[in-house]
Amino acid sequence: MAGVTFQTGLAHYIGLMTERKLSLHWFRRDLRVSDNPALLSALRHGPAVAVFVLDEHPSIRALGGASRWWLHHSLAALQKDLTALGMTLILARGDAGAIIPKLCLELGIGHVTANRGYDAGAIAAEQALHTALAEHDIRLELHAANLLHDPNALRTGQGRPYQVYTPFWRALIATGEPAPPLPAPVAQPVSDLFHTAAKHSESLADWGLLPTAPDWAHAMRAEWQPGEAGAQRRLTEFFPRALYGYKEMRNHPDRVGTSRLSPHLAFGEISPRQIWQATKTYCAAHGLNPMAGDAEHFLKEVCWREFSYHLLVHFPNLPTEPLRPQFKRFPWADDPTGLLAWQRGRTGFPIVDAGMRELWQTGWMHNRVRMIAASFLIKDLLLPWQLGEAWFWDTLLDADPANNAASWQWVAGCGADAAPYFRIFNPVLQGEKFDPNGDYVRRFVPELARLPNRLIHQPWQATPLELREAGVTLGGNYPNPLVDHNQARQRALAALATISESAA
Ligand SMILES: Cc1cc2nc3c(=O)[nH]c(=O)nc-3n(C[C@H](O)[C@H](O)[C@H](O)COP(=O)(O)OP(=O)(O)OC[C@H]3O[C@@H](n4cnc5c(N)ncnc54)[C@H](O)[C@@H]3O)c2cc1C
Repeated sequence: MAGVTFQTGLAHYIGLMTERKLSLHWFRRDLRVSDNPALLSALRHGPAVAVFVLDEHPSIRALGGASRWWLHHSLAALQKDLTALGMTLILARGDAGAIIPKLCLELGIGHVTANRGYDAGAIAAEQALHTALAEHDIRLELHAANLLHDPNALRTGQGRPYQVYTPFWRALIATGEPAPPLPAPVAQPVSDLFHTAAKHSESLADWGLLPTAPDWAHAMRAEWQPGEAGAQRRLTEFFPRALYGYKEMRNHPDRVGTSRLSPHLAFGEISPRQIWQATKTYCAAHGLNPMAGDAEHFLKEVCWREFSYHLLVHFPNLPTEPLRPQFKRFPWADDPTGLLAWQRGRTGFPIVDAGMRELWQTGWMHNRVRMIAASFLIKDLLLPWQLGEAWFWDTLLDADPANNAASWQWVAGCGADAAPYFRIFNPVLQGEKFDPNGDYVRRFVPELARLPNRLIHQPWQATPLELREAGVTLGGNYPNPLVDHNQARQRALAALATISESAA
């Protein structure tokens, strides 16, 4: 070190140490270590600690039961991944705006990082934390990690948010390639902070996120591997197994024709940038054009998620209020019995019941069947879409503030780029088209398993002998249909006419 004396070297070292503030990364729906810009930033200047706050404040929408199960396992996986990086994950319950500043003072932290949230509760929590930290001269640094592009940056030629998907997709593509994903941080030597911070953590087991009485999660344990490693595994398995033919097969609930990445995306265990890049890399290696055919269709679906977030950012009431205001006057029915039958998968329409039972047992439902089951609730039972949104919020492992709300509004015909309300799914025809051999129904509605294919989607058409031979008793071990679909359709159209006229 020519020209550097002991004194100047020491001064430089002391200068660095005072400049280097310990950092804290606030984990939220970004439960991964790779492609996590805020986590990387926290570690850029030296030792850092991480915190996850289970915020149970009434202003924050409480997690549903299925999401709580996922969160438990996802946090357990994250804890292991962080320990391998030499970092502690502090678990705390309560208000992030109070807990994080307190931790900062106790641990001597001068810099907090987080990845942005996009729903109203997440944004409010960021603002409250920013204000609380500023009182102690601590900076909150926010990054963007969970979307391909900034949802505020995309606007129509008139400067308005997009409300139709195709122009949104074109605009998104026109902005150029999303930023490439970032690597995972390099492991740090275990510092004093590692041990001190651990003393501040609550125990995950004490949070009671797992169901006990009864333990309804056994099918979930068999099906899912929450955490970043599970997400990466799903992604790598998806390409060889289902990318080829995705455009067609994604509609078939009787096949594994989609990626099943949705719960991993909902918890941020994988980023859309990683999915985007991996798709391009796979296509390049297999001589496929990522912007055509099956691959393009897959990327377009990933961008439906972007579209939902774009809507949520611009219409923060998306989870509760229809985007088309005339739907506030829609004459919904009051039918608690119908709602319960739908929730329990006992509507008497096999494809709807199979979907609702798939949801209950596995925490996930195929997209095609989500559309059929949602249409049935809204149009055959005439029940408000918000009731369906709330049930899905509670039971879906991938319950997502943007995708769930936008999709329910889409089916109800009251959202952006919505399927028109008068387009009413016929559950029998949908079943026959997308589950032609009844494999999906037989799996989730086993009491119908012995019916022949031509009757599996409409058991009420069977003769008494056919029912007896199949061991089915309508109104006994399987319900009679809750409604006559054709009459229900007419009722729904008449209800629509009341708001169309009053809107005119
Ligand atoms: C009534 C209803 C409610 C829904 N609620 C949710 C929800 O809470 N959370 C959620 O993630 N998705 C929701 N969806 C969208 C869709 O059903 C799921 O994203 C999809 O089934 C997930 O399966 P996958 O990961 O195998 O999808 P793939 O087909 O492999 O697609 C990859 C990813 O693209 C995104 N994507 C795919 N289809 C859609 C879509 N139609 N809309 C928005 N994004 C899509 C998802 O993030 C998905 O993980 C809902 C759809 C409906 C009709």
